[in-house]
Amino acid sequence: MIPVRAYFDLLSDYLRPLRPRVALLGVVLFGTIGLQLINPQLIKRFIDGALAGRGTSDLVPIAVAFMLIAVGQQALAIWSTYLAEDIGWTATNRLRANLTDHVLHLDMGFHKGHSSGELIERIDGDVTSLSNFFSAMMIKVVGNGALVLGILVMLWLESWIVGLIVTIFTVIALGTMTGLHRIAVPRWRAVRATAAEAFGFVGEVVEGTEDITANGSAPYMEERFNDIHRRWLPQTIRGWMGWAWMWSTTIVLYGLSTSIVFILGSWLFGIGTLTIGSVYLVFHYVEMTRHPMEQIRSQMEDLQKAGAAIARVDELMGMTTRLRPDGDEPIQPGPLRVTFDRVTFSYADGEDDSDDETVLHGVSFDIAPGRVVGLLGRTGSGKSTIARLITRLYEPQDGRVMLDGVATWDAHIVDLRKRVGMVTQDVQLFRASVRDNLTFFNDQIGEDEILDAIHRLELDPWLASLPDGLDTLLESGSGGLSAGQAQLLAFTRIFLEDPGVVVLDEASSRLDPATEALIERAVDHLLEGRTGIVIAHRLGTVTRADDILILDDGRVVEFGERAALAANPDSRFSALLATGMEEVLA
Ligand code: ATP
Ligand code: MG
Repeated sequence: MIPVRAYFDLLSDYLRPLRPRVALLGVVLFGTIGLQLINPQLIKRFIDGALAGRGTSDLVPIAVAFMLIAVGQQALAIWSTYLAEDIGWTATNRLRANLTDHVLHLDMGFHKGHSSGELIERIDGDVTSLSNFFSAMMIKVVGNGALVLGILVMLWLESWIVGLIVTIFTVIALGTMTGLHRIAVPRWRAVRATAAEAFGFVGEVVEGTEDITANGSAPYMEERFNDIHRRWLPQTIRGWMGWAWMWSTTIVLYGLSTSIVFILGSWLFGIGTLTIGSVYLVFHYVEMTRHPMEQIRSQMEDLQKAGAAIARVDELMGMTTRLRPDGDEPIQPGPLRVTFDRVTFSYADGEDDSDDETVLHGVSFDIAPGRVVGLLGRTGSGKSTIARLITRLYEPQDGRVMLDGVATWDAHIVDLRKRVGMVTQDVQLFRASVRDNLTFFNDQIGEDEILDAIHRLELDPWLASLPDGLDTLLESGSGGLSAGQAQLLAFTRIFLEDPGVVVLDEASSRLDPATEALIERAVDHLLEGRTGIVIAHRLGTVTRADDILILDDGRVVEFGERAALAANPDSRFSALLATGMEEVLA
């Protein structure tokens, strides 16, 4: 079914700002229809005039008017198509922008659960089918519907008998075609589903060729392949038969309508009700209904598709973020105090809070402004999760994360992200120049500022190693840089932002000594005058920390001054140092 209500809501929301253009389209569209209806009347006059023996002085003006109207009608048709496309794209571009904006404000959990390909398809693909809907709905359905109605009215005016019979015939024809269409479409859908299954299967098998041959399962795969084909052929035949029925029915229907018009016309002419011109007029009008009826019918399928797209758009719009609404408390400049107050967190949605899903269990700690904390713990213990909570990529189910006493959700998110800098384990790069990667495309940041930052981080050797300096083009993803080089780039990025807290999730990969030395020094400069949380995998990085926080299975098991912990032989930290933390933590 076609959800008329959903269409109407969408149309009125997005067309309201375009009202003048829509009104113009209405005028142009009805102008086209009017001209289409007038022209056959001229032919009728011409025929009747010629038969009555009128001179060329009477007939030529009619012919000229006919031609002018025909040309004018074509011009208006082009204009109306242009207007409809323009309205369709303007409206749907707004819808695209709204959807993108909405999706960008959804939480990380949503983004982890939806691939970028899926989102592109939903924001662009679905909306494109809606833009066809916007223009097709107006031009093809409303326009053609009005044209058919207009033709029927003209026929009724010409002769009520003709009007009645053609009206009945039109209703029957439309009903029959819609009915047949309803039979044919599901058959084709089945064919397409089987085709998709077949291609998916082939893709899977080709990809797994090695494993399949090695395991001797080739005959089994062949059998499954044949299975699909055994279903595919009869479905395809049924599908084509459905279309064949529609085609032949359409042809028979129009053959029938022509015969009816001729029989009716000759009878009405015989009893003197219609002139020859009128008979031609009726014939012409009936022929004219053919094209719009086809279009209306074929649009019905598109409207159904648009219905599915509207449902998906609505569903996406209805998704809400798990993040709390932003507050607007300011965050102080300078190094910030970072506090976790009994923070409990799980990546899973709230409903099922079974204990094994919980990643952090009542984590509390307090980091004084300007201190650097080394965050240690086995893989999976929740270190990166703590980093994500500080930057508010996620929010805890319980407890509070605070910066200088302000809960992260009481500040504005833009403010927060400016004051907290994070380097993740795998740095994401854009396919752009090093400069744009450093500034995030903000051209307010000048060359001097960038070079100064690089210089202060003592990264000049790194800059010198890039083939075209700041203009070096990077690929997306890891950008053709080594993990260490990418981290250096990320440090500079953050340094330019000048945040009050730096969270460093060190890459666990081994680095060459030269890069490692660069990183060590850059980190020193980066942490000067800031609060630092360093998730370290290397001893070298840990020795810079003032305090040590050890996490085990989502719980804080040790938190204290590094020197004191190192000196205490009973501490976990000194045990770690004794066994060699690279072995335990890497
Ligand atoms: P590593 O040293 O390997 O980086 P980590 O201490 O940083 O480990 P986290 O990334 O914080 O560990 O992960 C803690 C737990 O949360 C792990 O059990 C992990 O499987 C789970 N986890 C991490 N990210 C997600 C996510 N996006 N969705 C669901 N679970 C996640
Ligand atoms: Mg991690």
